[in-house]
Amino acid sequence: MPVGPKRDRTLYGIGKKRGHLHRYTWVRWGVGIVFTIAVAALPLLDVLRFDMWAGRHVVLGEQVGLVQAAKAFVFPFLALNVGIIVASRFLGRWLCGFVCPVGNLNRLAEWIRWRFKSLRARVAAGSLLTLVNFVMAAITFSFWVDWRVFTEGSPRAVAFASIFLFGMTAAFTGLVVWVGMRFCRGFCPSGVYFALLGPDTRTGVEFAHPEACTECKACEAVCPVDLKPTEMATGEMRAGIGFYPDGMTNYANCLRCGDCVVACEATTARNEAPVPLRMGVLPVPDDDADGAAAPAGPAEPGRAGGGDAERPAARATSEAAP
Ligand code: SF4
Ligand code: SF4
Repeated sequence: MPVGPKRDRTLYGIGKKRGHLHRYTWVRWGVGIVFTIAVAALPLLDVLRFDMWAGRHVVLGEQVGLVQAAKAFVFPFLALNVGIIVASRFLGRWLCGFVCPVGNLNRLAEWIRWRFKSLRARVAAGSLLTLVNFVMAAITFSFWVDWRVFTEGSPRAVAFASIFLFGMTAAFTGLVVWVGMRFCRGFCPSGVYFALLGPDTRTGVEFAHPEACTECKACEAVCPVDLKPTEMATGEMRAGIGFYPDGMTNYANCLRCGDCVVACEATTARNEAPVPLRMGVLPVPDDDADGAAAPAGPAEPGRAGGGDAERPAARATSEAAP
């Protein structure tokens, strides 16, 4: 079960060896911060917010009724979901690996767990995590309740608002500390929905250079959803877990988090040979070379990554991927 001590130990070793944040982490946090600011701007700039306390719903700076505010929320939300469906169908679960705020907070909680050993450092880092969770809860709160409830509301309204705000902070913190990546692996409803949409995609992890593999298994040790990254295209499907049924493809289950590639880069850093694993656009399988849009998903046994091992062109495309 990689989610847990084994994953923690391996990530700790990799982080210590590298000594700085990996480029995937920078991308993840950059995307997360931009996404969070964009969502926070909606209620803070009065673009769209509800007020379930006093009914002062706002759309584009104007106070409106609940139905009008709901319409302003539902239609863009549906359009966004259509975009997500199309993107997930053809590209896979990049949202899970690089955008989802819950995933990012889970990773922050994991990092604190394996990075800090002394009680003092853990308390300081844990306080920072709680503060981040409070900010997330406050953004959600701003979307549904006017902050004036704390100055103008009745004692009962203030009590409800406080329970909402601090209860959410506690729930977020409990989720990321005690459940963490197990939530992503088995129980996130959005993850199941994304996985069902993208059983075969044109992007993901590729065992591009099997000849350079040292069989260290670090990639398996860190995979948060128990996949074998060297067998993405050829291996057995993961058994059902949590809300996930049996028999879903490896490409459907893969979060596109890149942890296996990070581990592989670290363990083969001193080797002359190319990094065995890569993540990005998958090569076109040989039998698809005429340009037909056949899926690149699970390939025939013996065809690692749906193509051959030496792919300078495919490697070049991978450098642009997150
Ligand atoms: S990118 Fe790698 S580590 Fe992440 S879920 Fe996919 S196979 Fe596992
Ligand atoms: S981490 Fe890289 S070198 Fe180690 S087993 Fe996985 S693919 Fe092979």
